[in-house]
Amino acid sequence: MDEKLPAGLRVLSRDERVAVRRGGAPPPGGKCVVYWMQRAQRALDNPALDVAIRIGNELGLPVVAFFSVISNFPSANLRHYVFLNQGLADIEEDMAEHDVTFVVRRAPNHLLEKFLEEVQAAMVVGDENPCREPERWRRVPAERLKLPFWTVDADVVVPSKLFTKHQYMVHILRKRMEPLLPEYLVAQPVVKAQKRWSRPKSFEAFNVTEDVTKGWRDFDRTVKPVDSFHGGTHAAQKLLRAFVTHKLANYATQRNHPEVDGTSRLSPYLHFGHIGPLTIALAVEQAFQQGRVTQEAKDSYLNELIQWRELAVNFVKYVPHYDSMEAAPEWAQKTLREHAGDPRNPKYTLEQLERAETYDELWNAAQRQMLHAGWMHNYMRMYWAKKILEWAPSPAKAWKFALLLNDKYFLDGHDPNGYPWAAWAMGALRTCTGQDSSTSSGSGSSGSPPCSSRLRPAIGGWSQRELYRG
Ligand SMILES: Cc1cc2nc3c(=O)[nH]c(=O)nc-3n(C[C@H](O)[C@H](O)[C@H](O)COP(=O)(O)OP(=O)(O)OC[C@H]3O[C@@H](n4cnc5c(N)ncnc54)[C@H](O)[C@@H]3O)c2cc1C
Repeated sequence: MDEKLPAGLRVLSRDERVAVRRGGAPPPGGKCVVYWMQRAQRALDNPALDVAIRIGNELGLPVVAFFSVISNFPSANLRHYVFLNQGLADIEEDMAEHDVTFVVRRAPNHLLEKFLEEVQAAMVVGDENPCREPERWRRVPAERLKLPFWTVDADVVVPSKLFTKHQYMVHILRKRMEPLLPEYLVAQPVVKAQKRWSRPKSFEAFNVTEDVTKGWRDFDRTVKPVDSFHGGTHAAQKLLRAFVTHKLANYATQRNHPEVDGTSRLSPYLHFGHIGPLTIALAVEQAFQQGRVTQEAKDSYLNELIQWRELAVNFVKYVPHYDSMEAAPEWAQKTLREHAGDPRNPKYTLEQLERAETYDELWNAAQRQMLHAGWMHNYMRMYWAKKILEWAPSPAKAWKFALLLNDKYFLDGHDPNGYPWAAWAMGALRTCTGQDSSTSSGSGSSGSPPCSSRLRPAIGGWSQRELYRG
């Protein structure tokens, strides 16, 4: 433990969500604490912001929330940036409620170190993201900065560091999580900064209502924004209220029916951190406490939101090659290699798949939903990915194609949630999901969900809603 830390900070550093990436006491003369916001793009129910505010209050310093928009986020394109952009005004408004100033800067004037110097920061607090590149973005400043730098595990209900190794099965994780939930599934008090930061005159800050991508030349604008989702904390809260009021009661029976619009569609908001998982879980818990939904409905939803979602975080955290064939255990890699050269009939290129040009109209409809709505129902995602294994030239290519399309078109893509499922679909992860998945002869469809008879008639209904748009 860092003996030089003020006592209040020492207590905070012991919080299970906190990782002290660079220790030491804040240097004397610092003028503010900076919350370096990356994944948790919100002011409400944001444990990282709360830690920054508590530190600021301990040190008698104001808090500035800094959001640096880079132009080359992995796999991201105009669709993702528009959604992100839509969320910025809500963050600014909600930060003001915490007496925190929100400053956005965008490439090329976005560098953290320059910002810290300008505001004379005493300390930096970030959030966490277990994916490889985002984790590297946190490691690098941890080595370079001269200031204390902590990160806070803000986007899970149960702090992920409590599980110190790869958890293979959801039922085992559930068993380990259950005794922890009474401690973590609890509403947190709203903390406010005691001092407000006064912005120096002519201080550079981007106007959040403007287009963050304006003027970026080498930026991918080929994937258009969607009108099926509007980004931001306030839109997420509205969607959550509607889900709890109208759909949660039937979630347990309808969640596996893509022909019914029975799920929350909150995944894009969770991915961008516009809403925290605790906010959602508590709304569901409250509906149950008020007798509006059954225990079965509540348990079924929390099982997806907490256990399955946090199992995916654990997978990405502890499986180094989580996004390629090397993620598979040796037995699965061996089988996949043995069948790599099996004939595929039909066999499709990435371009044919991308353009939804297969013989299978159900699959094409799902692919068009991905292209035009940026989202797909979980049941269809399983079918969609399994078919790619069946039709791609090899399992390694299937894996690559699935992730490429997943992250390019889904608003919730490039998220820990996608990787274990891609692995499962490729037949490489029986153990993670607890659901078996064929590894035989490239014919992965034997493990795909039974879609044909039930769903094919529903394609027409989907098409009217959003599938054939554009
Ligand atoms: C091949 C494949 C690829 C996927 N890629 C992604 C992805 O890129 N990003 C992503 O967020 N999810 C992904 N998922 C998981 C899941 O399909 C989506 O999270 C879910 O469909 C989102 O819809 P919803 O918000 O209406 O979910 P709901 O049913 O309302 O569930 C609430 C929340 O629980 C979590 N959740 C639900 N189902 C799962 C699941 N099976 N595994 C893990 N968490 C879950 C999500 O955060 C979701 O928002 C993928 C699944 C498969 C099979």
